[in-house]
Amino acid sequence: MNKLNKQKLLDQIATDMVRDNVCPELAKTATNLVPGEGNSDADIVLIGEAPGKNEDLTGKPFVGAAGRLLTELLAEAGLRREDVFITSIVKYRPPNNRDPLPAEKQASWPYLLRQLNVIQPKLVVTLGRHSMGYFVPNATVSQVHGTLIKSKPWDIFPVYHPAAALYSGATRLLVHDDFMKLKKVITQLERKK
Ligand code: URA
Repeated sequence: MNKLNKQKLLDQIATDMVRDNVCPELAKTATNLVPGEGNSDADIVLIGEAPGKNEDLTGKPFVGAAGRLLTELLAEAGLRREDVFITSIVKYRPPNNRDPLPAEKQASWPYLLRQLNVIQPKLVVTLGRHSMGYFVPNATVSQVHGTLIKSKPWDIFPVYHPAAALYSGATRLLVHDDFMKLKKVITQLERKK
């Protein structure tokens, strides 16, 4: 399927989320749904936790401080934002940036799966524990970050959430290291093409 048709299907998924009233409590307090953006035909999809204030206001993922760091980290891995697709597990901002609830993640998961089925990436990069929990159950980010987990239909590469790196110098080093490892994984992906 070509990129344009994939984008149409992604737009339909966002429309369905509103129509299906996914996470009704979050929808009441949020300004915008933040379905994700980027290359609808990307080899790499990055999945965060939930939108924050700036994302809620703009409807775009990772545009605040964590987003600026993410853009920098992607550049270190040799990627531009427009090459990849960026989304979150929960697509409405939780009030006061609280953690998304298990029920909110559960309700949003089928739509994330639909997005992945449309994009058909080679690699899913989970940012932080909330999205990782769905792809790599029974592990902690500290155990598996920066390692390639071979699985079907997509390999998984868990990393620390860039927001965590904003508050801790030690985590910042770890997250930079994760993205340097991601660069190597991507080089191998390119070779297999
Ligand atoms: N953190 C996330 O997990 N997602 C966003 O879109 C922004 C910050």
